[in-house]
Amino acid sequence: MSTLEIKGLHVEIEGKEILKGVDLTINTNEIHAVMGPNGTGKSTLASAIMGHPKYVVTAGTVTLDGEDVLEMEVDERAKAGLFLAMQYPSEISGVTNADFLRSAINSKREEGEEISLMKFIRELDSKMETLEMNQEMAQRYLNEGFSGGEKKRNEILQLMMLKPKFAILDEIDSGLDIDALKVVSKGVNEMRGENFGCLIITHYQRLLNYITPDKVHVMMQGRVVKSGGPELAQKLEAQGYDWIKEELGIED
Ligand code: ADP
Ligand code: MG
Ligand code: MG
Repeated sequence: MSTLEIKGLHVEIEGKEILKGVDLTINTNEIHAVMGPNGTGKSTLASAIMGHPKYVVTAGTVTLDGEDVLEMEVDERAKAGLFLAMQYPSEISGVTNADFLRSAINSKREEGEEISLMKFIRELDSKMETLEMNQEMAQRYLNEGFSGGEKKRNEILQLMMLKPKFAILDEIDSGLDIDALKVVSKGVNEMRGENFGCLIITHYQRLLNYITPDKVHVMMQGRVVKSGGPELAQKLEAQGYDWIKEELGIED
């Protein structure tokens, strides 16, 4: 079992404190959801864990099996087993999707242990089938002209091909129609298992109808203020966030 542990994390953007002491522990074989109103720091949490330079950690720790993640360069974080699907996946021109995936897989491996082309293609075909992706997507330039839904599917394809220990998926559901949502969920559910843990950041409960989380956390004003099981997400869907604010005496 592997553990990703976030303790007392404080993060600033341009001198403004956004995260004010986030505590969260995820083990492999678990899927956690982080929900919360807009602007409470959910994406900031994801970006800080992945080492985005704009996000300055002023206090707290992030460890992966006891190793200090915050000390690692961004590529070392990926090599250590972290995966982040960005809320706005960027376009990279001149690199095909398949080339990108293959070099991403190989960059996580030792020299001489690279994935064979045959094995790579076989695996790519099978994952693309699961995600109901058109085969020509493999030869398209990365994210260039991908629709919103295609980008999201592609993120999940990356996830399935790279097989990280932990994935942080930030609003993979935003802008997806119900069919795309089901397909994306199928991909994540297929990853479930002893060697995979996941943090799903979402504004809406909808996604959690398809990916049942083991734990649900509510983030408000830069902190995790409440944690529970899947029923917490349902209560939020039905009742919004005001009852939590009242319960905890949080002012807007
Ligand atoms: P959420 O994902 O929960 O909607 P964010 O983490 O995106 O929240 O944003 C939290 C706060 O940080 C917001 O007040 C937002 O305006 C601010 N913020 C986020 N990104 C930046 C940035 N790049 N520069 C300045 N402020 C930012
Ligand atoms: Mg937001
Ligand atoms: Mg966000």
